[in-house]
Amino acid sequence: MKLKHDVIIIGAGVAGLHTALSLDDDMDVLVLSKDYAWECNTFYAQGGVAVAVDEEDIPYHIKDTLNAGAGLCDEGAVDILCHEGPVVIKEFMEHGFEFDKDRDGNILYTKEAAHSRNRIVHAGGDATGRYIHKFLMDLLKFPILYNTQVTDLLIEDGECYGVRVFHNNEIFNIYAKKVVIASGGVGSVYEYHTNARTISSDMQGICVSHDIPLRDMEMMQFHPTVFIKSSAVRKQLLSESLRGEGAKIVDEDGRRFLFDYDKRGELSPRNIVSQAIFDFQQKTGKKVFLDLNNFEEGFFMKRFPSIYFNMGNMGYNLPIDLVPISPAFHYAMGGIKSDLFGRVEGVNSLYVVGEAANTRVHGANRLASNSLLEGFVFSKRVALDIKLTLKEHKKSVEFDEVEPSLIKPSDKDLKNELRDLMWRSAGIIRNVNNLQKALIRVEEMLKLPIGKLLRLRLLSSREIIKSALARKESLGAHYILKGDDI
Ligand SMILES: Cc1cc2nc3c(=O)[nH]c(=O)nc-3n(C[C@H](O)[C@H](O)[C@H](O)COP(=O)(O)OP(=O)(O)OC[C@H]3O[C@@H](n4cnc5c(N)ncnc54)[C@H](O)[C@@H]3O)c2cc1C
Repeated sequence: MKLKHDVIIIGAGVAGLHTALSLDDDMDVLVLSKDYAWECNTFYAQGGVAVAVDEEDIPYHIKDTLNAGAGLCDEGAVDILCHEGPVVIKEFMEHGFEFDKDRDGNILYTKEAAHSRNRIVHAGGDATGRYIHKFLMDLLKFPILYNTQVTDLLIEDGECYGVRVFHNNEIFNIYAKKVVIASGGVGSVYEYHTNARTISSDMQGICVSHDIPLRDMEMMQFHPTVFIKSSAVRKQLLSESLRGEGAKIVDEDGRRFLFDYDKRGELSPRNIVSQAIFDFQQKTGKKVFLDLNNFEEGFFMKRFPSIYFNMGNMGYNLPIDLVPISPAFHYAMGGIKSDLFGRVEGVNSLYVVGEAANTRVHGANRLASNSLLEGFVFSKRVALDIKLTLKEHKKSVEFDEVEPSLIKPSDKDLKNELRDLMWRSAGIIRNVNNLQKALIRVEEMLKLPIGKLLRLRLLSSREIIKSALARKESLGAHYILKGDDI
């Protein structure tokens, strides 16, 4: 196996694969994937990609993104996303990708919460991520190493020289002139989540261990409509476009109680709907359902085939049956701090892109379907910077290949305890008391003889808790009560 490359890309979701697509064909690039390539959040994305419909829509897309971000967005990042988005998506379509169209060949745009107009393009009905992922995999021109987990970054004197990996039961180093982190978010630190099983915040934890700053880690988005009553680790998401196209949220008496919380009802931003459902259930003890009766059955099967199929397998006859729902962790706005070309603060030759990154493009709350777009837009910028700087002189440094044990026998129980702790203390509604208790427990766990992979999760979780404690007022997805225990 070749152990020296121009570029290593950690992750094979939209951010990693589109970085690869945007690099020159004659570069020596290696893509690393922790599992099969499809075990990533990109593959499971349902709703679509938010992109301005035309030139006039760009300022409205910017405004909607800034509004959702609740004052924490970097306006430059949002400007880039909304202006460069249509260009990058057009280029993607020029490769041959097809979004869903009507009978006359016009692209279909749907609406999702907090968008002021229909601007979400989708593919395969509700299988946008799967279609995009397959297409990007088919276009991949570089080798990909599967079942390869990065366990450390090789950093010396503020320069990144490569990665340490676990592959085929062996630990070894792979060197590169440039390293791109495209490893996604933090799903597995929470009890209930919608994320692929590979998404466990390894790279965020590795960054903490190297004193690389994470930012806005309190900003965790919870999706309001998730079917959590299955034994699968990844819970079934019921896309936001269902509500965009008329689905209702009701209690067990059929009452649309969301209007008690916000006059926009089902079309309120995600954080408001999630917090409302959580609060309503705490106060009334009633069950909450998604009511799809507005849909005609034939249309539903065609428009939402994956949801129809997956829920059918779990015994639900859609769109007729009511589906019991709960909020669940969905998306990390917070991440590894980077500039607008994905350059990681304080470490040369290291980049971050996609959900792992924090450019503040989403601020305190991501506007629905802006994340696939982020993956497309910012990966192109990362590739541009790499192309401009790859030829710069870089000395060669050798690192040892010693790694403490990755997993210890007691890790499984502690991991489950952590997921429960994070769900209850750093979840949808937080308070100082619970966050402080959680911080103490995480610090205790970090002192135990644990494996490295659990340590990385704990380091990331600690950042989420510490950031939540540092932000005393509620903002966007961060909702903090002033009182004692909830
Ligand atoms: C169910 C669901 C539905 C969604 N729907 C939408 C939608 O409709 N529209 C939208 O815009 N967004 C949606 N999102 C969010 C969006 O899918 C993600 O934010 C986006 O796909 C993230 O892309 P990414 O490339 O950054 O990461 P991912 O696609 O998650 O890829 C991460 C990659 O990193 C690899 N990796 C992780 N850790 C390591 C490691 N230590 N070593 C090696 N490799 C590693 C993984 O194996 C994977 O290949 C949805 C998310 C989910 C979960």
